[in-house]
Amino acid sequence: MNTVKLRQLLSHQQNILSKIALGIALDDVLQDICFAIEQTIDDNSARCSILSLAGNQLFHRAAPSISEDYLQAINGVTIGPKVGSCGTAAYTKSRIIAQDIDISPLWGNYKSLAQNAGLHSCWSTPIISTSSEILGTFAIYHGSPKEPSKQDLELIDYFVHFTSIALEKNAELHKAKLLLADLQKSNEKFKAFTQVMPDLILILNQQGFYTDVYGTSNNLLREAPTDLIGHNVLELFPAKDAEMIMAVINKTLVTNEMQIFEYELEVAKGKVTFEGRVAALDNYQPDNISQRHVVWMARDITLRKQAEKEVQRLAFFDPLTGLPNRRTLNDNLSTCIERIKHTKKTGALLFLDLDNFKRINDSLGHGAGDKVLVELAKRLSFVIKPSDTLARVGGDEFIILIEFVGENNLDACAESELVAKEIQSVFNEKFSVGELAFQVSCSIGICLIDEENSRTDNILKFADTAMYRAKKKGGNSCSFYDPELQTLLENQAELETDMVRAIINNEFCAYFQPQVSMQGKVVGAEALIRWLHPTKGVIPPDQFIAIAEQYGLIQKLQTIVLKNICSLLTKLSAHKLIDEHFSVSINISHIQFNSLELKNELCSTIDDFNIKPSQIKLEITESMLSGDINNTITQMDELKNQGFVFSIDDFGTGYSCLSHLNAFPVKEIKIDKSFIDKISDEGKGYNIVNTIISLGKSLDIRVVAEGVECTSQFDLLNQLGADYIQGYLIAKPMNAKEYLKWHGKHITQECSTV
Ligand code: C2E
Ligand code: CA
Ligand code: CA
Repeated sequence: MNTVKLRQLLSHQQNILSKIALGIALDDVLQDICFAIEQTIDDNSARCSILSLAGNQLFHRAAPSISEDYLQAINGVTIGPKVGSCGTAAYTKSRIIAQDIDISPLWGNYKSLAQNAGLHSCWSTPIISTSSEILGTFAIYHGSPKEPSKQDLELIDYFVHFTSIALEKNAELHKAKLLLADLQKSNEKFKAFTQVMPDLILILNQQGFYTDVYGTSNNLLREAPTDLIGHNVLELFPAKDAEMIMAVINKTLVTNEMQIFEYELEVAKGKVTFEGRVAALDNYQPDNISQRHVVWMARDITLRKQAEKEVQRLAFFDPLTGLPNRRTLNDNLSTCIERIKHTKKTGALLFLDLDNFKRINDSLGHGAGDKVLVELAKRLSFVIKPSDTLARVGGDEFIILIEFVGENNLDACAESELVAKEIQSVFNEKFSVGELAFQVSCSIGICLIDEENSRTDNILKFADTAMYRAKKKGGNSCSFYDPELQTLLENQAELETDMVRAIINNEFCAYFQPQVSMQGKVVGAEALIRWLHPTKGVIPPDQFIAIAEQYGLIQKLQTIVLKNICSLLTKLSAHKLIDEHFSVSINISHIQFNSLELKNELCSTIDDFNIKPSQIKLEITESMLSGDINNTITQMDELKNQGFVFSIDDFGTGYSCLSHLNAFPVKEIKIDKSFIDKISDEGKGYNIVNTIISLGKSLDIRVVAEGVECTSQFDLLNQLGADYIQGYLIAKPMNAKEYLKWHGKHITQECSTV
């Protein structure tokens, strides 16, 4: 190569390399390479073409001196073992020299294309990257068949080298561009994400310095985000908080595991509960390669925590007063019992129920009632010790659980009574609601808790029973649970069940006890109920009437008695053993007497038997007259007008004012047996009987003496002017059959006496 050419070559080299370095468009560089070799190579007909490989196709990149038609025709050709010089070179990864295209076996179909473009020889060299990949082909064509000289080949290799640099550099640039675009995209996403994120993302290094802050919740920080960067947690937070943060960072870096935890910090908007998620951050290293970093996500969960607390509060506390509810009480009671079993000491459960609280609610509305309850809860809270439990377990029901009230039951009784007094003292002051002030009181039931009485449900039940006993005393008092009373109550409940069964089984019936005049004439009888129990024998009314009243069974019993009376009267009439003056007494319980249904119930039964009301005497006690006098008179008048007759039973034992007696439509009074028993005593008994008989005479009310057992009593009553007598002296109560027999026999005697 002569010096001119050499200089030319060097200038080309300089130009090409500088263009590559400057990042000039690849096609420009490749074109320059083509021109350069065409000028440098020893044949003016030489034309250069550079193709690049994409997949297994070759695409035209630069060939400034070759006809466009030819280039178009071979563009995109698929490489193969016999695809011209370039297609084969790329395929075989080796230089292919076609000295004469016309006779080359590799050119096949492409020959005519080349000939038309005036191309007759083609030397193609594969362009190979530094990593041995085929990037494309570098071809030199000539206008006539030609073999390359050694120098040609050297020159070609020289330019192929530049071409490969240009292509590689271009591919790198392309990759970098894609990478940058990718990076920009993910950066955009990250920016958008951190803008909408309610959480904070902080990046800290292992020494506790902030290096980055993301997120929009600036009020979750103490300082402006920019003030944070470069500062250390130790200077930003109180020592305790800073230590916690450092401990988390250390743990994250040591374990390399994500930490999830909750913590509280004082920030710009106040005290905030955070959920923290902290993970080690690899390959981050801003500014300090020697430091490791963590990413710290802080989420404000204050509201969620509050909601959780609220749910907890609602489940275990009464929303109105804030006191523990029944569930909490039960839990505390169980724990308390367990401890008592251990300590062998005595505890107490006090059951409080307000007296007449319903009245406040009903008259002034629930708002007023609520205010009283809240105020009461406050007052009671001051009375109890911190170790005690004060719970609200129902509308106006409170329970106080005292774990230790005494070493033994005796001490415990005395102590819990004192506590009860103290509780009652909180009611001394009136409860004010707006302008009004109420005097409230409460009934307290106390149940002691010890090893023997240590079942949760029993303790609550027993305290409740005791509270009811306190209520029965008239309220504003306290009562202890009494096991004997409990047995009695349990027996009563059993009896009630048995009575229901007995009613169905027709075990109840009326016995009859005759009433006779002083002359011995049978004037009537009293029906007295009996329970003919299959195993217990005949049960007297004293043992079941009160329970029947309590459990609402009295009406059923009365109907049975009344039907028995009617059936007896029917039989007595049928046998012509009685006249219309004969009547049978029925005992009316106070519950029925106060019922508006009494008249209908009586009438409907006697109508069924065609019995006249005048044959039925209604025995009521003196105490039944003591209620609302006007109401009582109205009720009695109604029955009297119907034809029924009234007799006052157990007369003298009640508190009714004797002077009022004439106000009631009463036909008869029955002197109580207790006075008859004492009639023979000088003084009191005799005087009372005397007074009652005189009263009866003055008011024109018949006087019956009951429970007359002996002739001496009869004689005195006769002297004092009693009208009728009833008692064992005449006959004991008998069942209907026996009574009929007795009655028949007695009538015959009467007749024979007459
Ligand atoms: P009461 O109405 O005062 O009945 C009189 C009680 O004295 C009856 O007791 C009777 O058997 C008893 N008695 C009569 N004469 C003598 C006597 O000479 N000596 C003695 N020691 N006792 C005599 P009973 O039958 O046990 O009835 C007790 C109470 O049960 C009755 O007292 C009455 O208050 C109530 N009772 C009875 N039957 C009924 C009923 O059908 N309905 C209601 N509501 N109460 C009834
Ligand atoms: Ca009676
Ligand atoms: Ca009586």
